This record gives sequence, C-alpha cells and structure tokens, in this order.
Amino acid sequence: MTEKGKLFVISGPSGVGKGTLVSKLAEEPGIWVSVSATTRGPREGEVDGEDYFFMDKDAFLEKAAQGGFIEWAEYSGNCYGTPADVVQAHLDTGESVILEIEVQGAAQVKEKLPEAVLIFIEPPSLEELEARLRGRGTESDEAIARRLAAAKVELEEKMKYDTVLVNDDLDRAFEELKMRVRNA
Ligand code: 5GP
Repeated sequence: MTEKGKLFVISGPSGVGKGTLVSKLAEEPGIWVSVSATTRGPREGEVDGEDYFFMDKDAFLEKAAQGGFIEWAEYSGNCYGTPADVVQAHLDTGESVILEIEVQGAAQVKEKLPEAVLIFIEPPSLEELEARLRGRGTESDEAIARRLAAAKVELEEKMKYDTVLVNDDLDRAFEELKMRVRNA
C-alpha cells in the first residue's frame, strides 16, 4: 500500500511572496499544489482551473453546505475554499499536498487534520510588505489598505503555526521552505 502523503498549509499576508514560493514548490517532484475555489473575480492573467476555480457565491455556498470543502473562509469580502475530494485523492497517491490559504482556513485544517504542518511566511517588515503590494500594481489604494489591515491581523496569528519563515530573499526562503517540506 502506498504511504499517504503529508499535508502542508502555507499562509502569510498577501504581497509576502508566498505565491512565488508555492509555484516554485509546485515544480518539485512528489509535490502537488491544490487549486482553491473562490468567489472573487479573476485578476489579469489568471486562468480558471489553474489559479483558482472561479465560482459565483450561490454555487460556492452550495458546495460548502454539501461538505465539498476541507475548509473555507471569507477574506477581504470574498469566499475561498479548498476542494476536499481532489486533495484527498492526491494524499492517497502519496504526494505531499500544499494548500496556500489564509489563517482562518489554516486553523480549520489543523482542527480537522492535526497532522498537517502549518507554515507561516512573513515579510521582513510591514513597510516592505506595503511596497511590494504597491509594486504589484493590480489593486486600488482602497484594496491595498484593506489587505494591509488584514496583514496586521494575520501577523498576530503566526504563533499558531508550526513554523515561521521570513521571506527576506526569495532563493534563501525557497531553500528553507523546501527543506522543511522534505524533512517533515
Ligand atoms: P488572493 O485573492 O490574493 O488570491 O487570496 C487572498 C487570500 O486567500 C490569500 O491569503 C490566500 O492564501 C487565501 N486563499 C486562497 N485560497 C484559499 C482557500 O482555499 N481557503 C482559504 N481559507 N484561503 C484561501
């Protein structure tokens, strides 16, 4: 029988670079990155089924009510959830599964599946985070302010994680992340 894969949760404020770190992890053998469902609209360049499964709120809430998500949460005015069946299927094949989700969802995962490893990625400072969010150029000042406020709340949650990793330098942070996933 194949040994079951390990489940990893990666969280951190938006703009911290976790998306880049997670896409690099996705290229490693034996690692599968889950695709979440969301009610937010696609950003420029995002592809349905690759970046997210984009759903309207009614369909999302119906899937949630049927137990179709391992966890789901509302964040910044939109719903986000991890589809349960595909994640289970990948764990069953022995792959390591990565969920890139926010802190409320991470807490739900830990409660349901205590063996999951929770990794929090933090920026070197809040000033640096704001600069990165502005540099991305995809969102209005209001949306950036909302994300920064959310980031402050999220940073207070980092103690609940098994590991905290500072994204000061992408290559260094990636090597550390890879090592933690490989050695878990
Ligand atoms: P964004 O809109 O920037 O893509 O994502 C906003 C936040 O939602 C990020 O912190 C991201 O990690 C989180 N997120 C993405 N997918 C999920 C999910 O399936 N569940 C939860 N709880 N959060 C998610």
